[in-house]
Amino acid sequence: MDLDVDTVRVAWSRADCVLRPGETFLGGGTYLYSEPVPPGVTGLVDLTGLGWEPWSVDGSGLRVAGTCTLEELLAGPGGLGVPGPYRALGIVAPCVAALTLSAKVARTATVGGNLALGLPAGSMAGLFAALAARAVVWTPDGGTREVPVADLVTGAGVVALSRGEVLREVLVPEAVLRQRTAVRRASLTPTGRTAAMVTGRAGEDGAWITLTGSVGRPLGRAVRDHAALDRWIDTIDLAAPTAPTALPAPTDSGVPDGLAGGGGWYEDTHGSRAWRAAMTRRLAHEVLDDLGDPT
Ligand SMILES: Cc1cc2nc3c(=O)[nH]c(=O)nc-3n(C[C@H](O)[C@H](O)[C@H](O)COP(=O)(O)OP(=O)(O)OC[C@H]3O[C@@H](n4cnc5c(N)ncnc54)[C@H](O)[C@@H]3O)c2cc1C
Repeated sequence: MDLDVDTVRVAWSRADCVLRPGETFLGGGTYLYSEPVPPGVTGLVDLTGLGWEPWSVDGSGLRVAGTCTLEELLAGPGGLGVPGPYRALGIVAPCVAALTLSAKVARTATVGGNLALGLPAGSMAGLFAALAARAVVWTPDGGTREVPVADLVTGAGVVALSRGEVLREVLVPEAVLRQRTAVRRASLTPTGRTAAMVTGRAGEDGAWITLTGSVGRPLGRAVRDHAALDRWIDTIDLAAPTAPTALPAPTDSGVPDGLAGGGGWYEDTHGSRAWRAAMTRRLAHEVLDDLGDPT
């Protein structure tokens, strides 16, 4: 840990979430505490004091709080998957495993922190985008807005959250919980960082396929067959600019500085663009096969 800040205060209520100059939000701290102090950051506001219920399921669907730890996600919704009434959640456990975090890190790392970082290897974006989830965001003026998780990450390390906005929770619609899902991932080494992940869901419009890890931001598309899948993957730009290899540094807004656009295949020390493109194509076809006839 190399975090030298002047203040750390716990948010007990929504009013405490109003950031003062130099403050940024703290989830589990597994990223913030693993990096030098972000430029301009002098204080942290600990969101875990808000005491949110980590997750719940009711008639409207699944709710997962921003402060839900990955361990809680695995033990809760992850355990509701196959076999069970919420078979879509069968992909929760492999998506948590895709982060290759130690049990110690998974115990504190949060879903909100993973989404707010927006790293290409952030498998929570691939998970919740596949589940057609919407993110509920608290705005600094006391309001609330919703954004599809699929649109939350807009580039490698770039998210659609403004300074002072809190990722309150993600909502998975009830109908989606009963749909079939599948996931595949690849990394250069067995315990390496996820370099390509494909999640899929058999929905009303065919198979909804989401690509993460191999692209700068999650990309999703409904496809009806393997030929359509190939045509879509062919459109992803193999010659997009190479992204830097370093993890992004969070700004004092709590949102990392942007690295690369989301227009093409991503490249860093965990895999070249060409390899990621080839792996993604293979994994996506496997996911489509797993989902069976989507119609
Ligand atoms: C060994 C190790 C391996 C890792 N591997 C991966 C990996 O494979 N993929 C990956 O994506 N990450 C990885 N990480 C990074 C990180 O641990 C995870 O992304 C984790 O989920 C971040 O959650 P956190 O709660 O610890 O975030 P924090 O470190 O607390 O915060 C991260 C950022 O999110 C903001 N934030 C946190 N919660 C909220 C919220 N509710 N609303 C708004 N902003 C918020 C913070 O201000 C900060 O900018 C790894 C970290 C370690 C130490």
